Amino acid sequence: MDYVKLINCMRCGMCLPHCPTYKETFLETASPRGRVALVRKFQEGELVESEKFLEYVSLCLDCQACASACPCGVNAGELVAEFRCEKKQGEGLSIMEELILRKLVPHPDRLEAATAPMRLYQRTGMQKVVRSLGLLKMFPAALGRMEGLLPTLPDAPLRQTLEEVTPALGPEKGTVGFFLGCVMSLLFSEASLATVQLLSALGYRVITPKAQKCCGAPNMLGHDKEGVQQAARFNTDLFQSYQLDFVVTDCGGCGAELKKYGHHLEGEQAATAFSTKVRDISEILATEAAALKERLKPLPLRVTYHDPCHIAHCQGIRSQPRALIGMIPGIDFRELGEADACCGSAGTYNIEKPEMSDRVLSRKVQNIQKTGAGYLVTSNPGCLLQLKKALSEATPQVKVIHLTELLQMSMAG
Ligand code: SF4
Ligand code: SF4
Repeated sequence: MDYVKLINCMRCGMCLPHCPTYKETFLETASPRGRVALVRKFQEGELVESEKFLEYVSLCLDCQACASACPCGVNAGELVAEFRCEKKQGEGLSIMEELILRKLVPHPDRLEAATAPMRLYQRTGMQKVVRSLGLLKMFPAALGRMEGLLPTLPDAPLRQTLEEVTPALGPEKGTVGFFLGCVMSLLFSEASLATVQLLSALGYRVITPKAQKCCGAPNMLGHDKEGVQQAARFNTDLFQSYQLDFVVTDCGGCGAELKKYGHHLEGEQAATAFSTKVRDISEILATEAAALKERLKPLPLRVTYHDPCHIAHCQGIRSQPRALIGMIPGIDFRELGEADACCGSAGTYNIEKPEMSDRVLSRKVQNIQKTGAGYLVTSNPGCLLQLKKALSEATPQVKVIHLTELLQMSMAG
């Protein structure tokens, strides 16, 4: 761990009002400033490891809202994650973490195979029976929470149904590579398809390499640096084998990770070149605003927008999604209070720390309700899963959709 980053904290407290766990507890130990101090004291040998100490450190969502607010460039979330990573490497992962973060999610083929029985579970009506009889209580709590988050699965994974090349409609402007994102394209295939169709409608030939692998973000969460580097090298070589102007993703988490390949593979020119080509779909569409505007038809809807942490804090993208929503004629856009505050999903945080995740989520739901919006737009699979479930229970009339789905709705009129 870089000790200098720890001592850069001047303890001004400007990060405190932005930290979701501090806002819930008002405890210094659950704040970015407190966490930096805890890790620093531990590194200096003035603190010994205790259950309480580990609890404070593990309560961090790694949402990086503190980094956006810090005038000294301290990224408490990243420092804590790094610290936990160093510790975990010595201790190993829990069975659940090992299964999800190393064995399942980083492997698109295994993830797709795993959804087959889930599809059967949903299509045969078994899910309804299990839920109505409350049978989930008989299983471990983490499994019950994961089941509760599961949306209705599409008939087939998009990776299997989407053609490798989607031609441009009209004169061709350029060629982009589409990064599918394992969870995004598997669980929200309609949104991913809308992304490809929008790019094609705007004159881009879209290449979706079938062999692409996971971006490496789950490996990162699972403290598997080697796995991240392998994913980075594989995806870099694969996408570089095509002549691409950009590599586009509609998944905030993937975008943030792909843009870090140059850092993960320091000194490897190809990885840096790959990262500089990566764009979130909102960045590409914002550059096509004039062409897009001509195609948008009125949508008389009240809409609000939740900033995914991986898009706002990790990639600094805030204005583009709002500008794109605002371009739709007839839209009544309502700014969401604390729009860039984490929704509590945070990787596997909502499974591992259900109590704090629910508190953070409840605040988000209340803010959404205050807008009176009928549609909540966001662009990250974790946020989509978390907010779809919460709003279907608290305010079923509010629909949660991806930005590209909203734009496609408008194009279709
Ligand atoms: S982390 Fe940054 S914002 Fe927070 S107390 Fe330290 S210097 Fe101030
Ligand atoms: S990453 Fe998020 S939860 Fe962690 S200290 Fe920073 S603001 Fe708080």
